[in-house]
Amino acid sequence: MQYVTLGKTGLNVSRLGFGGIPIQKTDAATTRTLIESMVEKGINYIDTARGYTVSESFLGEALEGYRDKFVLATKSMAVTKEAMAADIETSLHNFRTDYIDLYQIHNPSAENFEKIIAPGGALEALLEAKAAGKIGHIGFTTHTTPLFEKALACDWVETIMFPYNLVETQGEDLMRQCTEKNIGFIVMKPLAGGAIDDPTLALRFICANPDVTVVIPGMYDVKEIEMNMAAALDNSPLTDDELAKIEVIRKNLGSNFCRRCNYCQPCSAGIGISALFILEGYYDRYGLQDWAQARYDAAPVKASACIDCGVCEPRCPYNLPIRDMLKRVAGKFEN
Ligand code: SF4
Ligand code: SF4
Repeated sequence: MQYVTLGKTGLNVSRLGFGGIPIQKTDAATTRTLIESMVEKGINYIDTARGYTVSESFLGEALEGYRDKFVLATKSMAVTKEAMAADIETSLHNFRTDYIDLYQIHNPSAENFEKIIAPGGALEALLEAKAAGKIGHIGFTTHTTPLFEKALACDWVETIMFPYNLVETQGEDLMRQCTEKNIGFIVMKPLAGGAIDDPTLALRFICANPDVTVVIPGMYDVKEIEMNMAAALDNSPLTDDELAKIEVIRKNLGSNFCRRCNYCQPCSAGIGISALFILEGYYDRYGLQDWAQARYDAAPVKASACIDCGVCEPRCPYNLPIRDMLKRVAGKFEN
């Protein structure tokens, strides 16, 4: 395994980490098997979230006796100080530990970001938990480049997690700034939410970028861990054949794949366009139908609220047929 320093946290982590979303599809016993396999192979970075239902607690049970072998990262969508303090306690309880290495602010909206950093906001709870030794470091996750830029300017941000893969390269300039500022850069969505069906090529592409600190593909069986390890550890340059395959994938996904750049916003009806497309990806490609449906049900404005004004479509750099795509989303989640 190749180990790297996770930016200014100073943590020594395996470049291939473990993404905890798929744990929701499995059980505590299988999670234990995965943990044992990671110990054997030297993978020492685990990322999950308060929002991934049973993921924290399955991992906590599976980590009994192995806690010291792992750097443990989780995240919360809490906005207020009180809610974040409660979530940190819940995470500690679920993980069966008294210390979490990295606690991240989980993909806030632009409006919530301002509330989080304001007096009484969630950041205060994170700073207090850090001072009390309950968490080691504070990180930030986002899907949008404007918030990525804002996070880069915050001195309390030690890591940033953002989508990066062979069809979502919009963060590359900001990733470079992470390197310059010694902020650990953690790749989420290495397979573009399951849209890329060649995981080896996807990881080879990501690991070829020196601005990537850690990549955390979701993994839920040992074979997947082995396959991803082989790809992540292969440091040879991308071949002409691989580069040609990348171009084919980009071309194929180009016409119907939302990159979450949010240039289409604001929507006249208040729809969080890219957020609904992300949920559709979880529904179709990750087999997390119930989870995606619950989140869709909680969305304040549904796809069916589209008034067909069309102002979003010329703003989309990928010329996506947003209105037709929203009709498809409404048909899936609202019938
Ligand atoms: S066409 Fe629909 S999704 Fe696009 S801006 Fe108008 S209301 Fe929003
Ligand atoms: S629909 Fe287009 S503009 Fe909107 S987030 Fe997706 S890719 Fe970006």
